[in-house]
Amino acid sequence: MKFKLSCGDAVPGCSARFEDESRDAILEQVTRHAREDHGVTDVTPEMLEAIGANIVPA
Ligand SMILES: [Zn+2]
Repeated sequence: MKFKLSCGDAVPGCSARFEDESRDAILEQVTRHAREDHGVTDVTPEMLEAIGANIVPA
């Protein structure tokens, strides 16, 4: 099963999209994306939870 996430759901204006085999894999990609493209150096569990709520089956 595949899952996907649009960063724009959490960060208006961001066009980054992620797709992977598991929610954990997507969260890993998003953590890297947040750090590199949004300058978020400290991704908290609360943030991951909020982001994870937007992950849907692909
Ligand atoms: Zn983004």
